[in-house]
Amino acid sequence: MDFRTILKNLDLKSTPKRLAILDILSREPTYLSPEEVRGRLKERFATIGLPTVYRNLEELANGGVIVKVIHPDRKLYYFFCHNKEHHHHFVCTSCRRVDDLIFCGVHEIEREVSKTLNGTVSSHIMQVFGVCGSCTAGNKGKTV
Ligand SMILES: [Zn+2]
Ligand SMILES: [Zn+2]
Ligand SMILES: [Zn+2]
Repeated sequence: MDFRTILKNLDLKSTPKRLAILDILSREPTYLSPEEVRGRLKERFATIGLPTVYRNLEELANGGVIVKVIHPDRKLYYFFCHNKEHHHHFVCTSCRRVDDLIFCGVHEIEREVSKTLNGTVSSHIMQVFGVCGSCTAGNKGKTV
């Protein structure tokens, strides 16, 4: 993955911090909080502050390089997705893994909006939360 080219295409400078954030998130199969990203950045940038981490994460998310998780706990999380086609995500709130959902049901919503509201759909955001298959299987084995 050539992060410099991705950033260049978005008119974002390839700063060492941005590249380090992308490096950290792209190796992680789960989503991370800004605090966790900062914890890992501290190995390379000892004095990096949380506002800097927040700002860089927001810029990368706004450019679509990383995905922001709109978590039910109202905290912010971010992850890196290698799939650049239009798709959605299933987020496991138990083990934090994120799975791609190739299914997008928005065409029905589009029809509904144009039919009942006389409007047009320009974009949409959808994230699905729950407990993944392996967490569900693991929980079944436990006696409560
Ligand atoms: Zn899980
Ligand atoms: Zn994805
Ligand atoms: Zn969609």
